[in-house]
Amino acid sequence: MTGQAPSLSFEIFPPKPEVGNTKILQALKEMQDLAPHFISVTCSNNNLNVEETTIRLADHIHNDLQIPSIAHLPAAYLTRDKVKSVLTALDDIGVQRILALRGDIIDGLPPKEDFRYATDLVSFIKEEAPHFDIIGACYPEVHPESPNSVSDIKNLKKKVDAGCSSLVTQLFFDNEVFYDFQEKCSLADIEVPIIAGIMPIINRNQALRLLKTCENIRLPRKFKAILEKYEHNPESLRAAGLAYAVDQIIDLVTNDVHGVHLYTMNNAATARYVHQATHALFKH
Ligand code: FAD
Repeated sequence: MTGQAPSLSFEIFPPKPEVGNTKILQALKEMQDLAPHFISVTCSNNNLNVEETTIRLADHIHNDLQIPSIAHLPAAYLTRDKVKSVLTALDDIGVQRILALRGDIIDGLPPKEDFRYATDLVSFIKEEAPHFDIIGACYPEVHPESPNSVSDIKNLKKKVDAGCSSLVTQLFFDNEVFYDFQEKCSLADIEVPIIAGIMPIINRNQALRLLKTCENIRLPRKFKAILEKYEHNPESLRAAGLAYAVDQIIDLVTNDVHGVHLYTMNNAATARYVHQATHALFKH
């Protein structure tokens, strides 16, 4: 056993401006009752208005709901000055944890030059605001731009050495892939905690999006069978998708994972289901 109880945390995303915040605020209220370890707030990779989206929600989570919050920050399209002002804004609201990202490169839109890789952002934050806790992203099934896993792990090592205190993984459906990745990290002397990102698949649209965007993610036979059999049966797909995620989590915690980060898709019912089914495992 690792001694310390694993953490259960949630990820949410800021809704589009035309959608408004009513629903997400209600969802967060419901998530508050589940006392997650932290809630992280994503940030669009070409977002010049991060103060009104990610930071505003992180502020609400941290100060109104009294739950530790992490702000995601993809920096490929940001300048150093903009990042400085984001750090100041986060300092002002007392949120001092950042998931430091490069972000995806948008077709036809060249990135700025200040932050070529997430590592550049990590180093910059370490220099500008060393009191910030910096978390990095990682990819058990290799980042799609990487030529191979050796290169990806070497780059990950540089990112961690630049100042990440922990890592959160891309979603995965095959725990064996995660265990292999943990081993590779360990061989590369990447010793920080690795938190497993888990996304319960609860509807057909989400499943279709997943199949389209996550080509490199292995879908175990058992998981594919669920998607195929219940594609047109929303209730069964939801039940089976949630049960699959719970099964993954039970296995991860049993194998001493440091933490599970649940990609909630802003759905409090998903968070509640998973919490109810697994919360006993997250205690000492
Ligand atoms: P990096 O760590 O910079 O890696 C990107 C690629 O560059 C990899 O292939 C890496 O191997 C390579 N690389 C790194 N350093 C070097 C180097 N020195 N030399 C050569 N190659 C190098 N996106 C968003 O827009 N908003 C979000 O809120 C968001 N949240 C996320 C949360 C998690 C947990 C994860 C896993 C991803 C998230 N993403 C988000 C997606 C992420 O922005 C994309 O996957 C992006 O393509 C890579 O970002 P990164 O920070 O991992 O990049």
